[in-house]
Amino acid sequence: MTLLAVSKTRSAGDVAALADQGQYHFGENYLQEALDKIRELADRDLTWHFIGPIQSNKTRDIAAHFHWVHSVDRARIAERLNAQRPEGLAPLNVCIQVNVDAEDSKSGVALADVPALAARFQQWPRLRLRGLMAIPRADAADGGRDAFRRLAMTLSQLRNTMPALDTLSMGMSADYPVAIDEGATIVRLGTALFGPRPPKASNPAV
Ligand SMILES: *Cc1c(COP(=O)(O)O)cnc(C)c1O
Repeated sequence: MTLLAVSKTRSAGDVAALADQGQYHFGENYLQEALDKIRELADRDLTWHFIGPIQSNKTRDIAAHFHWVHSVDRARIAERLNAQRPEGLAPLNVCIQVNVDAEDSKSGVALADVPALAARFQQWPRLRLRGLMAIPRADAADGGRDAFRRLAMTLSQLRNTMPALDTLSMGMSADYPVAIDEGATIVRLGTALFGPRPPKASNPAV
């Protein structure tokens, strides 16, 4: 299990302090902020994960500067990341983001549409599909357990034809114990590690 430290809104110094304690995986949502930190910390051997919504005009920088992307939710974005991943780098690790509770306010593909999108990754050699990511609804009475279970079930079905898939990116500060219980391989923790974040008005989904 990998602990992904979600460092959005935190300084490069905050990231460096965690890295000094042996934390090497960091997750970012806002591209410009992330690029500044990646540049500032370039002399450290960190693994950067992009976990925020992706607009088409951001794919070139994401493909060039990140090791993982958890938030691919449509073929058009995957096509661009594949075309723009620099030759000298290993394939970009990708998770498909799933709208596991079918919420209007959330991005992500519907559970039923996951197999068709996953199958298309054969056409994208510069991407390495690793698995699925989801953010369940915040107010579920079961703490998200049923949503995590549905995501895990979907991954397990995909593995019948794509046995290399190995990643369930699920669980945040409020629900990670349940996610781990249901098979998470990456938990994404921000506030549990760094303390409360100032609210970001431009991004109501987080
Ligand atoms: C902000 C964010 C997190 C971390 O949230 P916390 O509740 O602070 O742990 C995890 N995943 C995604 C996709 C996020 O945007």
